Amino acid sequence: MMPSAVSDHETHTGHGITKFTNCFLVKGNDLVKEDLWISSTTGKILQSQEVFYGQRVAPDRIIDLGGRIVSPGLIDVQLNGAYGFDFSVIPKEGASAYGKGVLQVNKSLIKTGVTSYLPTLTSQKPEVYHKALPFLAPSGATRDPSSGSESLGAHAEGPFISPTKNGIHNVSVLRTAPAGLPDLETCYGAFNLMAPSPIKLLTLAPELPGALNCITSLTDLGITVSIGHSEATYEEARAGIAAGAKMITHLFNAMRPLHHRNPGIFGLLGTASPTPTSSPSASPTSRTTAPRKPYFGIIADGIHLHPTSIKIAWNAHPDGFILVTDAMSLVGLPDGTYDWTNGSRIIKQGPLLTLEGSNGKIAGSSISLIECVTNFLNWSGATVPEALKAVTATPARMLGLEGVKGSLEPGADADVVVLGLEGEDGPERILVVEQVWKFGKCVFEKGKEKESDGGL
Ligand SMILES: [Zn+2]
Repeated sequence: MMPSAVSDHETHTGHGITKFTNCFLVKGNDLVKEDLWISSTTGKILQSQEVFYGQRVAPDRIIDLGGRIVSPGLIDVQLNGAYGFDFSVIPKEGASAYGKGVLQVNKSLIKTGVTSYLPTLTSQKPEVYHKALPFLAPSGATRDPSSGSESLGAHAEGPFISPTKNGIHNVSVLRTAPAGLPDLETCYGAFNLMAPSPIKLLTLAPELPGALNCITSLTDLGITVSIGHSEATYEEARAGIAAGAKMITHLFNAMRPLHHRNPGIFGLLGTASPTPTSSPSASPTSRTTAPRKPYFGIIADGIHLHPTSIKIAWNAHPDGFILVTDAMSLVGLPDGTYDWTNGSRIIKQGPLLTLEGSNGKIAGSSISLIECVTNFLNWSGATVPEALKAVTATPARMLGLEGVKGSLEPGADADVVVLGLEGEDGPERILVVEQVWKFGKCVFEKGKEKESDGGL
C-alpha cells in the first residue's frame, strides 16, 4: 500500500523544533509507530515528553509523513569518491582544489541519504596521504547542515596489504613489512597520527611481518583497525583480532576463500564470543584475551558477492553486519573508460567497474548505499529495520559512535532520513529516499530538486 501524501504544518514558535508524526521509527530491530521530535537549534533528537510537558515548548513544524519510515541517517564506511571526484587523487591545481572537491562530494552525497561516512583512500604513495588526510578529518564540529554529508574521519585502505590480494591497488606502492610506528608515520605523516587522527579506520593485512605491533599502536591512537586485502590464515586473522583489530574489510573479496580445513578470515565469524561494544569500561588489556567476533563490511551490489554468500555472513553474525558501497569516483558518471590513480584505467559498464588490462578485475562498485540496503532486503529475508541497522546503528557502534550517530534516541544527532517503501506487496521491495535531515534541518526533499543538482 502506498503511503499517503506528506503534509507540512508550520507555526514558527522560534524554537527550531520539528515533529514528525504518522510515521514508523527504526529502533533496533523494530519499526515503532511513534512521533519524533528534532531540533535545528541543538541539532539533536529531543525527548519529546520533557520538551512539551517540562519546558512547555511546542514544535514549529509538524510533518505528517503519511505512514513513511523514519531512519537514522545512513553511514557508509567505505566510499572511495563520487561524482567524478576521487579521494585518492590530489588535483593538479593542488590542495585547495582537493578541499573544494571533498566539499562538493559532501553536498551531493547527502541527497542519497548518506548523512555521514568515511572517505576512503586506496593504497597510495606517502605524499598523497600527507596532502589528503587533513581534508578528510571529522568535519562535524561546526554542525553546519549546509556542509552536506559529514566525514567521520578517513578510511585508509592500505598500503600495508598483501601484494597477492591487492585487488585494484597498485602493487608498486604497497608496503609489506610495516616496521612499527615510525614506518606508519613515514607513510601517513607523523602529523596525521597524532590524536585526534584524521584517520578513523585503517585496513591492513595482519599476516605481514610487524603488522600485529602496528595494530596495537594504531588502536592506542584511537584508530580502528580492519583486516583486509590479506592472505591471512584463520590463525593469523585471529592474532589480528587479539591484537586489537575490530573489523573485516569487504568480507570475501580480496582474501582467501573459506576452505573447510582452513576457514581463513571468514572463520572469524565462527568464533564464540560476541562483538564488543564501545564500552568505556573495556580495559586495553582485554584485547589480549580471547578473540572476538569482528564487524565486517559487505558489498551488496550483485557483482562482488553472490546473494547467498551475503545471507550466510549475515546469519553467522547479524550484529557485525555492515553494508558498504566501496563506490568509486565514477558513481554517477556515464559508461566509458576513465583514468584512475597510479596510471591505471577503469572501464565502467553500467554498475560494473573493471580494471583495464586485468582480465576483468572488479574495481570497486558504482552503487548507492540505499540500493545496497534494498538489495539486501530482497535477498536475505531481513526486515526493513534489520536491513537499515546495517547502515546505521551497527557502523555507528563499530566506530565508537553509539548513541551519537545511527540512532533515533533522544540526545543523538538529528541526522534523519525519511524513506518510502515501494512494491511492498510485490516480489521486490524498494526503499526510496524522500527526505534527508542533517542536524535537525531539512537538506533534501525528493521532487524539489533542481535538474542541475544531479544525484546518484
Ligand atoms: Zn578494497
